[in-house]
Amino acid sequence: MKKKIDQLIINVRRCRGCRSCQLACSFEKTHVFNPAKSAIRLDRDAETGHTAPVILPLECDFCNGDPACLKACTYEAISQKPEGEEYKVLVCL
Ligand code: SF4
Ligand code: SF4
Repeated sequence: MKKKIDQLIINVRRCRGCRSCQLACSFEKTHVFNPAKSAIRLDRDAETGHTAPVILPLECDFCNGDPACLKACTYEAISQKPEGEEYKVLVCL
């Protein structure tokens, strides 16, 4: 049985703006690679000035417990567990 996921953690300092998470999300949701169809927007984090993913809570269903965005991020900027002080919870239902 899959572990229930109810939040994703973004480590802003690890994000490189590569958009792999957006592509994975759009493919998971619509079977096309199109960032505009994903539940993720890339924006500049006001505090750090780094590019970071913003996950839209109303559009994200956590991929039924197996987040495609988390697996797609080779920089480990998206995870389920916070690391030290440098993280933000961007989705928490
Ligand atoms: S969160 Fe990861 S996959 Fe998404 S843009 Fe940042 S580095 Fe790329
Ligand atoms: S967990 Fe949410 S944001 Fe991530 S790929 Fe799935 S639907 Fe998209």
